[in-house]
Amino acid sequence: MVKDIVTAQNAFFSTQKTKDVAFRKEYLKRLKQEITSREDAICDALYADFKKPKFESLATETQLVLAELNHTIKNVGRWSQPEPVESSWTNFPSKDWIQSEPYGKVLIISPWNYPFMLTLAPMVGALAAGNTVVLKPSELSPNTSRIIAEIIQKVFPPEYVTVVEGGVEVSQALLAEKWEYIFFTGSTRVGQIVYKSAAEHLTPVTLELGGKNPCVVDETAALKLAAKRIVWGKFINAGQTCLAPDYILVHFSVKGKLAEELKRYITEFYGTDIQKSPDFARITTKKHYQELKEMLEGETLLFGGTCVDQDNYVEPTLVDEPKLNSALMKGEIFGPILPIIAYEKEEELHQYISNYGKPLAFYLFSTRKKFQNKLLSQYSFGGGTINDTVVHISNKRLPFGGVGASGIGGYHGKHSFDLFSHKKSMVKRANWVDVPLRYAPYKLPIRWVKRFKHLF
Ligand code: NAD
Repeated sequence: MVKDIVTAQNAFFSTQKTKDVAFRKEYLKRLKQEITSREDAICDALYADFKKPKFESLATETQLVLAELNHTIKNVGRWSQPEPVESSWTNFPSKDWIQSEPYGKVLIISPWNYPFMLTLAPMVGALAAGNTVVLKPSELSPNTSRIIAEIIQKVFPPEYVTVVEGGVEVSQALLAEKWEYIFFTGSTRVGQIVYKSAAEHLTPVTLELGGKNPCVVDETAALKLAAKRIVWGKFINAGQTCLAPDYILVHFSVKGKLAEELKRYITEFYGTDIQKSPDFARITTKKHYQELKEMLEGETLLFGGTCVDQDNYVEPTLVDEPKLNSALMKGEIFGPILPIIAYEKEEELHQYISNYGKPLAFYLFSTRKKFQNKLLSQYSFGGGTINDTVVHISNKRLPFGGVGASGIGGYHGKHSFDLFSHKKSMVKRANWVDVPLRYAPYKLPIRWVKRFKHLF
């Protein structure tokens, strides 16, 4: 089956149809229409998968994809144009430009935590650039995977875009084929597997992975607002957000006040009986629920801690001063548990932050510009926000992606188009003159050759 799909996509790509920008735009418009007309059904599927609140489904899934579609439909014509660049004197006279061309067959493998957005947002870029696409959504969010498959089936011929549903074996069968580009979103562990498979065929990859995102709050931060924005960014999607602040490092002088404000906002957002709140999602899988529950064992809780097995419910929880070697601090938490660790001197931050690979996101709440600049230049991370959390993902003009352990490559908007395009460098020479200096037998004095650097 996988082989048939690959053959069909190869044949379709070779018809050159996707080289026509009007063709790409037409399909992106049809996709937009289909998503718009099914927006409620998509929200229902997300609710069926992990009780994702409708507000969050709209704000963080469908509307983000529609925004990406609008921006791309509007600009793909311009992005696809050859981009002229200044010529080099050595080639005088010449016309030089960068020409974008599609790679060919793109494989997109996505996770369960934002199952709609993380499947379709990269696809928009891949199609805008003129590729064909095979989507492999997560088996752990089956209702969303199903509706994605229905939408794709309705809008696209299967040789252009197709969805292959299934789990690890299906994913591995797909990875065994030769693709011209692989775009993977998921865990660092599986990212390594994908990278190895891609290496077999020298296939370029984008890896959108996870990480342990620090959130530093210093003594000058606007504490109430900081707490409000941290609670929002941490507990949206029940903490199953690759960009969520993973743990807080707070100056000891304001720790008590920050903790009080965090508690206050959790209650203000979700009420006193959070399990009944329509605005708080569930943990998607039993396995991950169990892991989260175990992470709480032996920890000192400042708030929350309730876990309900039948409902995969983990209450928003604040943990006081976990040890660096605790289960909670070993890797990415990926759930609604927020450790709070106090520091006294700035130098102490390093032992925590440098304990993990480069994170996907970094958050700093401080009004000291010097401190902001210091941390920004000291640490490498995918992207970040100063005095807020998560929101840097919402600007389509910013590339979204990780670095080091948190991934390779960035996408969204024009960055997606560029990511999924091979950039041909082109020089067109004129025939009316041919400067003879480069040809053998070489007659130019060596001291002149040493000045060539000014001509390239
Ligand atoms: P995962 O890596 O377990 O699964 C992702 C996809 O890979 C799924 O489609 C799955 O079927 C497939 N897969 C799983 N095991 C595989 C294997 N052995 N071989 C081939 N394919 C395999 O990730 P997940 O649990 O679905 O998602 C959570 C992780 O994703 C977290 O680490 C999170 O930080 C990360 N994430 C990153 C981003 C980002 O944009 N950087 C966004 C969301 C999630």
